[in-house]
Amino acid sequence: KLDERILLSGPKDELYLLAQAFNEMLERLEKGFKSQQEFVAAASHDLRTPLSIIKSYNDLLKRWGKDDKKILEESIQTISIATQRMERLVNDLLFLARVESKPRINFVKVNIRELIEEIAKEAQALSQTINVTFSTCDLYVNADEDYLRRAIWALVDNAIKYNKENGEVGILSRKEGNFAVIDIIDTGIGIKEEALPRLFEKFYRVDSSRQSSGFGLGLSLSKEIIQLHGGDIKVKSKYKEGSTFSVYLPLYPPAIRGKNAIL
Ligand code: ADP
Repeated sequence: KLDERILLSGPKDELYLLAQAFNEMLERLEKGFKSQQEFVAAASHDLRTPLSIIKSYNDLLKRWGKDDKKILEESIQTISIATQRMERLVNDLLFLARVESKPRINFVKVNIRELIEEIAKEAQALSQTINVTFSTCDLYVNADEDYLRRAIWALVDNAIKYNKENGEVGILSRKEGNFAVIDIIDTGIGIKEEALPRLFEKFYRVDSSRQSSGFGLGLSLSKEIIQLHGGDIKVKSKYKEGSTFSVYLPLYPPAIRGKNAIL
């Protein structure tokens, strides 16, 4: 048990300050443990759901699979969907663990224009009812191309996923001080103001009952990747009207830290 706080009393001398620092350290440790516990609980829950589906359909298959073709086909299909979902979650968790522990980042000079063109074209091809447009310019950043592509793609994927029918997605790039900024703008369902502070938390979904396909890991992964590059992600949203996610990345060559920094 961690609750071993030192009672603060007496004059505010060095000993008092030391005790205060000790208490603060305990508090931070507790918070860490709590979020670790919450993470494990959420991950186990999301893994257990497809696993129990696989188990029950497996039982069904064993009992009736040989005689009933309908059961055979339905079971195979359901098991395959649940397996894919588990595989996706395990891959996301492994990737998250890699990003958080010892990410092997291969920094190279990346042209934002090329990256945006590539992602936008792919997004256009994938989304049937959503119109994806882009407007970009030559801007260079120092980045790991694979990581960066993954981070931007997660935001574009959300802009498509949480859009309205025949909605729009725009990807823009611009320069702001020493940063290259990529805006991903959508005319989608938007996010209520009270949900914004928790948006980048792991496993957080605004309305988990309505959105069953995601795990709530995309945004936290994107943010961690961008922060590894010395940047950040900001979000503005209007409920039922749409959202803008802005990715800030230090321009190439890397600027001296703190100088003209806007973050
Ligand atoms: P998920 O896998 O659920 O998409 P994310 O971490 O990418 O997980 O996003 C977390 C939640 O934030 C989503 O479940 C969704 O409710 C909300 N969200 C993310 N992007 C958008 C967006 N562009 N418009 C509206 N809601 C969004």
